[in-house]
Amino acid sequence: MEIPSDERGELRQIAAALRRHLHTRVGAGIVALTRPMTRKPITLAGPAGENLFGPSVDASVGESKSLDELRAAIGDCRRCKLWSGRTHLVFGVGNPRAKVMFVGEGPGRDEDLQGVPFVGRAGQLLTDIITKGMGLKREDVYIANVVKCRPPENRNPEPDEVESCEPFLKKQVDLVGPKIIVALGKFAVQCLLQSKQPITRLRGQWHEYQGIRLMPTFHPAYLLRNPGDKKLVWEDIKKVIEALKSA
Ligand code: URA
Repeated sequence: MEIPSDERGELRQIAAALRRHLHTRVGAGIVALTRPMTRKPITLAGPAGENLFGPSVDASVGESKSLDELRAAIGDCRRCKLWSGRTHLVFGVGNPRAKVMFVGEGPGRDEDLQGVPFVGRAGQLLTDIITKGMGLKREDVYIANVVKCRPPENRNPEPDEVESCEPFLKKQVDLVGPKIIVALGKFAVQCLLQSKQPITRLRGQWHEYQGIRLMPTFHPAYLLRNPGDKKLVWEDIKKVIEALKSA
């Protein structure tokens, strides 16, 4: 039976969409269609049981020995749906041996365009906190986000997106080995601390992430809207400065 050309085009589009969907699932380590999200390394065994494609992508993330290796292992990431809207994957920036690491939520428009975290208006305020408040340079600290690709319309990252991306942040923390993490804003704080408590309760107190002291504070974007709360962030940052003296 002859398929009309307009239907052939439609079928081609459906096949392409299905291919993209399956590619994303495989990238996320989902190897069966009927099972719920299972994060298995993808290993395709050859006749002798050998892995035809070498270590799986996610194993190479875990085995990375440097930030450069980790970035290479993340590659042209399609592990979650955010890849399709990004201009750049925003990995992280700064001193690979920084004593203090700042963690935000995810890239915004400016960060997506430049591929660097915290370079927009909120980023300028963070830079002021680091330079004018702490007397450090941006290059002295390490800056990263929970998710590496910009969520559409700057919405909050969704749980599956965080699940796909958080291993990269964990590995960044491992490799940098900061003495102190400053978590910026409700989303990053609640995500790193696995807590539903409001940021107003969590901020200003020491917590722990992967055995590292973590200070939650307000997000610089929140401070742009609520400049009256800058004094609270300054209180939190003073605690960080004090702790860094003995770190
Ligand atoms: N907000 C964030 O949480 N991260 C960025 O990189 C920029 C804005």
